[in-house]
Amino acid sequence: MKIALVSEHASPLATLGGVDAGGQNVHVAALARALGAAGHQVDVYTRRDDPRLPDRVPFAPNVTVLPVTAGPASRVSKDELLPLMSDFADELARAWITDRPDVVHGHFWMSGLAAVDAAERVDAALGGHLPVAQTFHALGVVKRRQQGASDTSPTVRAILEPGVGRHADVVVATCSDEAFELKALGVPSSRIAVVPCGVDTDRFTPDGPAQPRTDRLRLLTVSRLVQRKGVGNAIEALGLLVRAGIDAELVVVGGAGDAEHLEAEPETERLRQVIEAEGLRDRVVLAGAVPHDDLPAWFRSADVVVVPPWYEPFGIVPLEAMACGRPVVATSVGGLIDTVVEDVTGLHVPPRDPEALAAAVAELLADPERRRRFGVAGHRRAVTRYTWRRIAFDTVRVYERIAARAERADLLAGEG
Ligand code: UDP
Repeated sequence: MKIALVSEHASPLATLGGVDAGGQNVHVAALARALGAAGHQVDVYTRRDDPRLPDRVPFAPNVTVLPVTAGPASRVSKDELLPLMSDFADELARAWITDRPDVVHGHFWMSGLAAVDAAERVDAALGGHLPVAQTFHALGVVKRRQQGASDTSPTVRAILEPGVGRHADVVVATCSDEAFELKALGVPSSRIAVVPCGVDTDRFTPDGPAQPRTDRLRLLTVSRLVQRKGVGNAIEALGLLVRAGIDAELVVVGGAGDAEHLEAEPETERLRQVIEAEGLRDRVVLAGAVPHDDLPAWFRSADVVVVPPWYEPFGIVPLEAMACGRPVVATSVGGLIDTVVEDVTGLHVPPRDPEALAAAVAELLADPERRRRFGVAGHRRAVTRYTWRRIAFDTVRVYERIAARAERADLLAGEG
């Protein structure tokens, strides 16, 4: 198939770990790669954020990234992108009228907005129906519920996002929790498919080089440094463990910049204050952003991987930890409910609860055999259910379904 992926802020070409560069970048890049490897022609449309980028960037076999000019050719925070989406949609419509894809797949609500708008214009220009699949990655309604007044998304998101859900031919939810949310937003069940995110199981493996470590038991978090990721709770949990006499440390991977150049973002400053307040200066390492390819070595160096977000649309990090054969302690929110199996690959704890987090981690730190068992089960779960090859296969089945439906509707319209 000829597939157009639209990912307005999350480019497969971006460096990961900064405020707006995380799972969606990994998802779009890996899905594109896997679709290309399966023989499909994939074009990834993403907003041009660097004037030096050529118009077509070869990314992987059968995959090209096409930077779309909309707004300044520099980084723009995703909360400020909405006004640029109409130019973005114009560019998409122009490209697709010249060279029509078989299916379009929007990633994030603003890409969906542009994709649905552009596809309608393609239909008007060429006839027939260009089917649109949509993956939200995060839902504004959940973000607002969790973050309240500190949610910085444009307020119209509350109206526009459900509209995208109702106009797209199918919404691909990444977990069952999201499917329930979508139904509550008025998306009919018949137009919701659940396909999770995947993990690169060739790169994220239990065996291989590991980062050097100390004699202390090591906890690891890997995440963008934003408050809702709960890294502060992980630090507080470490405080409780240390005060209980457990000789442990916490390595925090993520943030804008590497360890020496970690930018003074508000959350980084807040975390430093939590570290000071807990008296953990020598037991918490803020390692900064680590290139994705180097991450397996960090996972392998950990005794327990802690995934403590307040909410999480999907969460690729626990899958990466599991693929590396590491036990996970995760909050029972969003996608983590599906990926981490209680008492099999890890332990679940309530969000925003450092005591519960510390208790679960302490259980695992005290039992190396249980950690090993969880690691083995996690690895098995990752390689049997979450390879990108499988995710791409399942995604194509969704594309085929909406393409066939569009074709049928076309035929019926012709007969009428
Ligand atoms: N990541 C990375 N380097 C970092 C921090 C994060 O490569 O320094 C990657 C991480 O391995 C994962 C992604 O960014 O693949 C984060 O995805 P997740 O779904 O867990 O969270 P999100 O950032 O989408 O909220």
